[in-house]
Amino acid sequence: MSVQSERKRLLWAIAANRGTLPPMRDTLDAPSIRAPIDIEAYHNIVIVTGAGISAPSGLRTYRGEGGLWAGQDGCYVATVEALRDEPERVWQHFGEMRKAVIAAEPNVAHRALVDAERRAPGQFTLITQNVDQLHRKAGSAAPIDIHGSLLRTRCTDCDRPPFADLRHEFPSVPQCDSCGANLRPDVVLFGESVGIDEEYQVKMALRLCDLFIAIGTSGTVAPACNYVRSADYAGARTILMNLEPMNPRNPYFHEEYIGSAETLVPALLASL
Ligand SMILES: [Zn+2]
Repeated sequence: MSVQSERKRLLWAIAANRGTLPPMRDTLDAPSIRAPIDIEAYHNIVIVTGAGISAPSGLRTYRGEGGLWAGQDGCYVATVEALRDEPERVWQHFGEMRKAVIAAEPNVAHRALVDAERRAPGQFTLITQNVDQLHRKAGSAAPIDIHGSLLRTRCTDCDRPPFADLRHEFPSVPQCDSCGANLRPDVVLFGESVGIDEEYQVKMALRLCDLFIAIGTSGTVAPACNYVRSADYAGARTILMNLEPMNPRNPYFHEEYIGSAETLVPALLASL
């Protein structure tokens, strides 16, 4: 890190401690961010990832331009109402998404997190909003899938546990072998809450967090905006890495790096 950039970071940190603060914005081209995050200096690391980390793997972000949920239907097909009223449309939509997810491979950002996890001296909690299972495919030990998995299916009625399911063509709504009710993708739809187990694990991790990084997700909407508040309260260093600058800015993020996950994550988490 150059002297100039280190100075910039310190000035920024001082401002942040005073509670007023210009966001520290940087771009990938800035040599200053070659490796400012010393993973080995933290004991309770919490990372939360969103669609932006999977975009370089060819999976479109949900709500951005050309996104899977953009267009005339908006997010309708991913709502509890659609599941109730038009399950065939829901399955058609998720079948297409599932096909894309099955074909996708983890990218360098996913792999950089696997490497960071191996170097972390203490607790390393990886939380993802993505339903694509790419963190597992890359080798992350135990990501918390707060929005479920697109590669699992479950019953809408009975207690049969969710099961792995790679089918993606749905001429009709699939039905439960045990009770005959409609099946559904094992993902959290709009209008549903994050599972209790996942919520609990996240809360426990954030309580002791000393480094919090949100990657490829907006810093201004839930859940990242709530998680970062808890992390800040716990005294953590808090960082956002995203393609778009925060708007409005969320003051609980102390540092903000703008760029693609594919470039930022390996550069910022590289072994020192
Ligand atoms: Zn059933």
